[in-house]
Amino acid sequence: MKTRAIAIAVFTAASLFAQSRPESGKRYPRLAIRNAILIDGNGTPAAGPKDIIIENNKIVSIVGVDGPSLEFGRPNRPKADVEIDATGKYVLPGLINAHAHTQDERGGISQPLDYELKIWLACGITTVRDVGSDTKKTLELRAKSATGEVAAPRILVYPMFNAQHPVPANAEQARARIREYKAMGADGVKLMGVYRDVMEAGEDEAHKLGLPVAHHAGVEETNAWDDIKFGTRSIEHWYGIPDAALPAGVQNFPPSFNYNNETDRFRYAGHLWRETDPKRLTEVLTAMVKANVAWIPTMDIYEASRDLQRAQNQVWFKEYLHPTLEEFFKPNPKNHGSYFSAWTSNDEVFWKENYRIWMSALREFDRLGGTIGAGDDAGFIYQIYGFGLLRELELHEEAGFNPIKVIQHVTGNNARILGMEDKIGSLRVGYLADLIVVNGNPLENMKVLYPAVEPGQITGVEWTIKDGYVYHATTLAKEVREMVAKARATPHKSTN
Ligand SMILES: [Zn+2]
Repeated sequence: MKTRAIAIAVFTAASLFAQSRPESGKRYPRLAIRNAILIDGNGTPAAGPKDIIIENNKIVSIVGVDGPSLEFGRPNRPKADVEIDATGKYVLPGLINAHAHTQDERGGISQPLDYELKIWLACGITTVRDVGSDTKKTLELRAKSATGEVAAPRILVYPMFNAQHPVPANAEQARARIREYKAMGADGVKLMGVYRDVMEAGEDEAHKLGLPVAHHAGVEETNAWDDIKFGTRSIEHWYGIPDAALPAGVQNFPPSFNYNNETDRFRYAGHLWRETDPKRLTEVLTAMVKANVAWIPTMDIYEASRDLQRAQNQVWFKEYLHPTLEEFFKPNPKNHGSYFSAWTSNDEVFWKENYRIWMSALREFDRLGGTIGAGDDAGFIYQIYGFGLLRELELHEEAGFNPIKVIQHVTGNNARILGMEDKIGSLRVGYLADLIVVNGNPLENMKVLYPAVEPGQITGVEWTIKDGYVYHATTLAKEVREMVAKARATPHKSTN
C-alpha cells in the first residue's frame, strides 16, 4: 500500500514539471533531473527518488522527493528551465575508464576518431585516462573536449614511456623524457618495459613534477616490489603482481619460450597465477596497500584467452564493430594481441584457472584495504571501446564484488586514482556535473548499461552528462551503428 502511494505521488510530481527536454551537446544555466534513483560512487546503497539540479557544469542541489522527504522537509521542489524525467531510471556518476587508448587507426588502417568518442559517451563514460596514444593529438583532443567543441569524455593524458619512442637508456634520459612530458602538459605518465634504474629515475622525476605514474607491470626486470618501493600510483593489468610472488623468483618457462612471441607470452601468462606462493602473494598485496599502489586489472582484455568463441561472437559486433577494428582483431602476428591462430582448449583451461586465482587475489587486495579501479584497454583482442569497460564491470561482479562496489571501482575509486576525488566520481553538491541516466538498474543487471543492439530496445545509458554538457547517449549509439553500416558498405574507404 505504502509503495503504491509513493509511486502515485512521484508520478504526479513529474507531470507538474513537464518542461523542455535538453538538446544534445549543450550546457544549461539550470537543468533538472527528476525522480531519479541514485547510485553514488562511494559504495553506499541506491537511494531515491531524488531531483538533481545542475547549473552549468556543477551539481548545485540534490533533493529527496520520496514520500517522507516531501512530507517532512522539502515541500517545494527546485525549479529549472530544462528537464530530464528520470522516473524509473537510475543515475550514477559518469563512468571513468582508467585504462584507455585514443585511436584513429588500427594496424595502419585509419578509423574515424569519432567512432571511439561516440561509443565512449554512449556507454556512459565521462572521463578517460589515456595511457598511451599519439600524445600531441590526444592533448589537442583534451582541449577540444574541455570546451565542448568535440563530443567526448574528459581526457587525461598519460604519455607512454616505452619503445614507441626511443626507450630512455639510462636514468638521465628518463628524467629528461619525463620533463618533456610535463612541458607538453601531460597529466601523468605510463611506464612500461624499462630497466629498474630507468624506472626509479622516471618515477622520482615524475613525483617531483607532480605527475602520477601508471605502470604496465609486465614480466620484466621490475615487478610489484618496485612499484611499492618507487611509489607507482597504479599497476596496470596484473603480471607484475604474481611475478613478485613466485617462490623461485622467475616463472617456470619451457626452454623454448620467447617473450616476443605473442602466442608464447599469452599462453604462459595463463600459468602465472598458479605458480605463485599464496603467502608471498599476501605480502605483496599488503605492501601495495601500505604504499598506496592501486590496481587496475583490465580483466576484459584477456577474456579471449579463457573463452575464444565468446570473445569472437559478441552480439554487438554485428552493428557496432567498425570494419577497421574487425580487421585488426583477426589473428595476425603483425598486430598486438592477435595471437589466436594456435589457441587450444588446453590454453583455455589454464586461463580459466588463472582467472579464478586472479579474482581471489583481487578480493584479498580489497579486504586488505587496497584500491581497485576499472579500465578496459579496448581496441585490442576483441574488445570494442566502451563495451570493454562494461564487460569489465561484469567481470568485477564475477570476481565476487557486490555490484555496489563494482560501481565504486569505476567511479569513486577511479576518481581517487586520477587524483580527482574532490571533483568527480560521486554525486555530490559542488562536484562537476558528470553523471549518467540509465534505463534500468545496473545493481540488478550490469547488462542494462550496454547500448541497444536492436532499434527500439529500451536499455543502456540514455543521457551522458559530462562537465555539464548533456549528450543523448541513445542517439549517439544510433549514430555509431550508422557509421559502422556506412563503413561496411564502402570497405577500405575510411571517412576519417
Ligand atoms: Zn593499454
